[in-house]
Amino acid sequence: MPTLRPLPALRDNYIWMLADATAGCALVVDPGAAKPVLDALTGAGLRLSTILLTHHHADHIGGVPELARRYPDAAIYAPRDSRIPVATHRVADGDAIHVAPAADFTVIEVHGHTRTHVAYYGEGLLFCGDTLFSLGCGRVFEGTPAEMLASLDRLAELPTTTQICCAHEYTLANGAFALSVEPGNHALQARIRSARDLRARNAPTLPALLADELAANPFLRVDAMGDANIPWPTRFRPPPGRAARFAALRLAKDRFAA
Ligand code: ZN
Ligand code: FE
Repeated sequence: MPTLRPLPALRDNYIWMLADATAGCALVVDPGAAKPVLDALTGAGLRLSTILLTHHHADHIGGVPELARRYPDAAIYAPRDSRIPVATHRVADGDAIHVAPAADFTVIEVHGHTRTHVAYYGEGLLFCGDTLFSLGCGRVFEGTPAEMLASLDRLAELPTTTQICCAHEYTLANGAFALSVEPGNHALQARIRSARDLRARNAPTLPALLADELAANPFLRVDAMGDANIPWPTRFRPPPGRAARFAALRLAKDRFAA
């Protein structure tokens, strides 16, 4: 039975590792650095069998060349994007992949943060890179807010028991914004409380349960929250519609963080 754990890396990244002691190998997702992976592999006496990549940003692929040098047999899955130079398998929407240690994933294209970003869903887990975070979502760098919303809509349709394995520890910062949008949301308040406890012990707040995110994450609640909750830009009311609601939320979050 493989075990899942997030390896802290760089400033606030997690490199997810799925390790199988019996098979003697492990899979990692978005290794932005090689050292945390090499340390975890050495500590457990495992070899690296698979790397899954969600998008081209350096904090997600920076460790790949070094890992590929140390483990030349490792399979490296990535979307088609010349900005991800090292890969052995290129994936696209709907692809079903079987990887070692024995695990099956479906590829879901989730454009918005970047124009080729993918997520991997399988084994009850979702590796979603910088698309969906606990209580938040990724910045829209290369797509439109409507594209990002469509991507989040697809993730929201997964089974509610899905464990969301995001690539960053952003839960508390996201929670502060989420609470400014929906101060009366009890599920959100409870999630922030539990995340605070976890962070106080320096423990990860992830994986997050999709059911909890549907109840607390404002970016998954564009339809659920009231019009009064939407932080419309002052003096500018975009035409009504869910994409406009999402765009207003994302813009407010960008300004909130700044
Ligand atoms: Zn990114
Ligand atoms: Fe990132």
